[in-house]
Amino acid sequence: MGWLSDIGNAVSSAAGAVGDAVEGVVDVVTNTVQDGVDTVVGGIQDGLGWANSWLCRNAGGVGCRIGNIVLGGLAGVVKGLQDVIDKVFDIVHNVGGALGALLHGDLAGFIGKLGAILLDVVELVLNVVRFLTLGTLIGGIRDAWQAEDLREFVDKLINQHFGFNPSQLARIRDRLGLDRTSWGYPMNAEHRVFRLDSGNAPLWQWHQNGIIDLYAMAGLTSFDSFDVGRRRTLVRSANADGTIESSFPINRWTLAHYIDSDGKDGRIIVYALTANAVKDFVQVSIDKFKKLGINLKWNTGGRFEYFPSIPFHDIETLNELTFDRSKLGPYLVSEGLRDPQSDQCNLLALAAFDLVTGLGQTSGRNISEGSAATPCTNTPERDDGCCMSINRRTGAGVIYHDQWPTQIFRYVLAHEGGHYAGLCHFGHDGFQNIMFTPEKTANLSYWDWGMFRYYLDNEPAFTLADAKNVWRFLVAEMAPCLDDPAASEPVIL
Ligand SMILES: [Zn+2]
Repeated sequence: MGWLSDIGNAVSSAAGAVGDAVEGVVDVVTNTVQDGVDTVVGGIQDGLGWANSWLCRNAGGVGCRIGNIVLGGLAGVVKGLQDVIDKVFDIVHNVGGALGALLHGDLAGFIGKLGAILLDVVELVLNVVRFLTLGTLIGGIRDAWQAEDLREFVDKLINQHFGFNPSQLARIRDRLGLDRTSWGYPMNAEHRVFRLDSGNAPLWQWHQNGIIDLYAMAGLTSFDSFDVGRRRTLVRSANADGTIESSFPINRWTLAHYIDSDGKDGRIIVYALTANAVKDFVQVSIDKFKKLGINLKWNTGGRFEYFPSIPFHDIETLNELTFDRSKLGPYLVSEGLRDPQSDQCNLLALAAFDLVTGLGQTSGRNISEGSAATPCTNTPERDDGCCMSINRRTGAGVIYHDQWPTQIFRYVLAHEGGHYAGLCHFGHDGFQNIMFTPEKTANLSYWDWGMFRYYLDNEPAFTLADAKNVWRFLVAEMAPCLDDPAASEPVIL
């Protein structure tokens, strides 16, 4: 039987190599075009935003609002076009993925990709309708208007809060750029993907015991499971001491030999997320956080990175494989990732393989919602039925996992980041809100009158009210971060 399966493995490895090549080429081409479009559009948006901001500083109230309408509208139109182009390339990208899955004999993966293509097409139609009915134009005007409102709000808030100490006030205003044309809180952020190394954990045994399905995780034909909603994991082979990894996904031949030799033949490395998946989560969070007046600066997931390395956190146990999210805070401390007393000014995000329950979790924040949120001593002026403070007895960070379909779940990192920056679920009914959660305990409804905002935003978004409450939280709880650039430098101990 050995030689027979060897032939089968060799044949499927050869077809798989073609699949890898197809997927790889499509990936590089679509990524390059999309990064190019996003960079050019980002530049135009920044320019329009800058001009708007300049008008608001120098042309008086009326000039400012006229600028909001004209320049904001223009920015909205450009953004609408970008959304349409992006969606077309998402479709091309997923067609490449579907072809790749087919060549790997990964029928479940192929069906999953077809589902993704269908959702992309629906979104493409919506994007075109939104563009033609001027939804993106109106959305752009509203965004520009609200960006100015937020800036005025933060300007006043900072003055009120730190006015008693003129030198500190000057430092903070300078750091946030409140007296310059563009402003925002620069927040460093570190992303790490959970990684399994067969040198540290008996992955072949977990596979044999049915705990994990390495073939499915590698995007290869699996006879043990049929999961169309497979998460975007990556399996690679490595050299004997695990120091050098192959740059390509593993093939069936190599993986079968590792498993069938009870782990004696070869070494494999498994990432909870591919580089592409990391990039998507990271870019979404950067984009969404702009509306909060926070500029996220990640260690990974930038544009135009070809074959990037994936910053990781090695795990070895089954408890980490399926992570209990309620233990995140103590875990960050015991793993030496966070110091409860000092690390607050930057964001640490871990991408897990799976959680016992839920999509994600934020630690290091005391959250009370609804009637439990009053009185709120640190931020009595909050208006979102939420009260939050920093919990300095545990590690602060977020954890999340990938979930199919990505069109719906790509906001989960931005959502957890929202908790980290001081937001909760309360009152965020409707999928148009980033702070919406389908988890039952939050008592939120999918549908809400505010769904009109989804039409304007095109995607789930933070609201102006969210942004104001984030800043109330920041000045009350994270003043040292606003003040001292050094306080937000080291992300990992
Ligand atoms: Zn949440």
